[in-house]
Amino acid sequence: ASAIKRGLSSSASATPRMLNGRTLAPTVNHSGNAGMKILAVLYKGGEAAKQEPRLLGTVENQLGIRSWLESQGHEYIVTDDKEGPNSVFQQHIKDAEVLITTPFHPGYLTRELVDKAKNLKVCVTAGVGSDHIDLDAAVERDIQVLEVTGSNVTSVAEHVMMNILLLVRNFVPAHEMIERGEWRVSDIARNAFDLEGKVIGTLGAGRIGRLVLERLRPFNPKELLYYDYNPLPADAAAKVGARRVEDLKDFVSQCDIVTVNAPLHEGTKGLINADLLKHFKKGAYLVNTARGAICNTEDVAAALKSGQLNGYAGDVWDVQPAPKDHPWRYMKNPLGGGNGMTPHYSGTTLDAQARYAAGTKQILENYFQGKAQEPANIIVGVGKYESKSYGQR
Ligand code: NAD
Repeated sequence: ASAIKRGLSSSASATPRMLNGRTLAPTVNHSGNAGMKILAVLYKGGEAAKQEPRLLGTVENQLGIRSWLESQGHEYIVTDDKEGPNSVFQQHIKDAEVLITTPFHPGYLTRELVDKAKNLKVCVTAGVGSDHIDLDAAVERDIQVLEVTGSNVTSVAEHVMMNILLLVRNFVPAHEMIERGEWRVSDIARNAFDLEGKVIGTLGAGRIGRLVLERLRPFNPKELLYYDYNPLPADAAAKVGARRVEDLKDFVSQCDIVTVNAPLHEGTKGLINADLLKHFKKGAYLVNTARGAICNTEDVAAALKSGQLNGYAGDVWDVQPAPKDHPWRYMKNPLGGGNGMTPHYSGTTLDAQARYAAGTKQILENYFQGKAQEPANIIVGVGKYESKSYGQR
């Protein structure tokens, strides 16, 4: 309502504004509708969400913003029903002005749906990673894509550390043996190693990649490497002591452990496939908490089965929820271990949920009030990519 009083137009404001001496990207102003439709696609929390109100990213707890939105006259539709033309998501996207989706249960906003979404002006990712949106289509339609940058990067970096350790130390088969009531130390120890002295590389050295490198340093690796078209700032590279390798095959061929920390875009989709896996060290470990589709599903399963990879761990899948027969649920190395897969939860710890729920609210507040968005949160601004992380353009 306040936006109407101040006469905000329905178009994007083309003039860049300044904040603390920084030039801000032009903002998308809202329609001026006091009662705009805001559609959120979140995951179902069930009994857990009823018992634990801090599960904010669920359909039940609705990011904690329902009464705030409704007190301002907005309509707030929250659903986990996202597949097919009759789903709540695909029905309401036709006239929603704001779409909120979480990467943990992504509403895939394809180009076809962008064409149908005539009122859509802003997509907010409650979390980090906006590949579920056709970003090129958003650019063409002047739909702004915002995410709560940084909200769960520590959560993911910690998960990466856990994944690396559980693979290298052969933890999962050891625990399963205990649950079966058995005790055969050698069966586990014959494929258990130390992290110390290994070469570890991150594919993508942005916020998460850097945090992972920082956390690896105290383990005394032989060397830390990174592969990224955006080099680390000199002070950050010095702090973590990481060496940049510019050729991807050269990079993977030097690593005992590769961790993937790049967004999914046309330059990373299927990047880790049979051809690249041939260049990995025999028996290397691969950890991917970035996006499932960066790795070719069948090629990774085959590499683990043959022992070319000794382990694969992560929490991201090429379609989410992952189907029951997804090979990554069941794949194993020749010794019957090497699988550290979980559902997508690394970035949705309760700590992370508090941060991305608060960040989503802040983004909406800025939008309602016609205020500039935090530059780091803008993936797609008005008619162009603002982030340098979604490929070289
Ligand atoms: P970021 O934007 O800070 O860093 C991404 C880095 O990847 C950038 O430095 C970019 O230059 C680099 N990159 C892009 N394309 C590349 C390529 N082809 N080769 C090498 N490097 C490339 O992002 P971030 O906060 O570090 O997050 C990274 C990704 O992690 C997100 O986009 C998201 O997909 C994923 N993520 C997953 C979870 C989870 O819960 N599993 C949570 C948060 C983020």
